Amino acid sequence: MRLKTPREIALMREAGLVVTEALEAVKAIAVPGATTAQFNDAVAEVFARHGATPLFLGYPNPTKGKPPFPAMICASVNEQVVHGVPNHRPLREGDIVSVDTGCRVNGWCGDAAITVAIGPVAPEIQRLLDVTNETLHLAIRAMERCARWSEVAYLMERYVKGQGMFVVEQFVGHGIGQAMHEEPQVPNFVNRALRQNDFRLEPGLVIAVEPMVGLGTKEVVVLDDGWTVVTKDRRPSAHFEHTVAMTPEGPQILTPRAD
Ligand code: MG
Repeated sequence: MRLKTPREIALMREAGLVVTEALEAVKAIAVPGATTAQFNDAVAEVFARHGATPLFLGYPNPTKGKPPFPAMICASVNEQVVHGVPNHRPLREGDIVSVDTGCRVNGWCGDAAITVAIGPVAPEIQRLLDVTNETLHLAIRAMERCARWSEVAYLMERYVKGQGMFVVEQFVGHGIGQAMHEEPQVPNFVNRALRQNDFRLEPGLVIAVEPMVGLGTKEVVVLDDGWTVVTKDRRPSAHFEHTVAMTPEGPQILTPRAD
């Protein structure tokens, strides 16, 4: 893994701000009757206006023989955890949609995700969103005082479990820079692999922190399209992500938003 210079981090913030604007454009149209295809169009418009290159469109499928990713956003509805494909089905009041997107600007990448509520949602669903977003933010706050990532991951896992929810383990955060996915892997829980591949939280480190939380299970299944990941129990899950840089002044969110 390669640490970034202050100038490189400043360039990554430019990409991150475009990602922020794209997600804000989605939030503005996230109402009953809207479609995730419309979300994708809104993001495409923002990227085009900034001359940003989408990172997800054409991304190779991890399953051999399956098609590359066909859109600029992942849109994962309700029981879908991540990597959902946008479509033309109207969203209904009470749905939640995890929207993940990334772009490259002047050679540097930004990546972020939010889960939006479509109209009012059930109290337990709202709590799922609140817990998942808080898991992300407690991690970023902890990066200020923790020396190594495993200490942060431990806090994330402990918090989610304490809320009676489940950290999805199949997918993890990642280093990010000129490529969207760089070393290291950034899990939201502690296991032996993390203890062996732990890393220091030092200035120049830039990572995408992205907890995924399930209401009923951490077990997930990939659907036949080779992309869409759903919870095994088909209960809802949420996903929030920021690109975060470690600086001498502490962690800085490169994809800042108003939540
Ligand atoms: Mg990511």
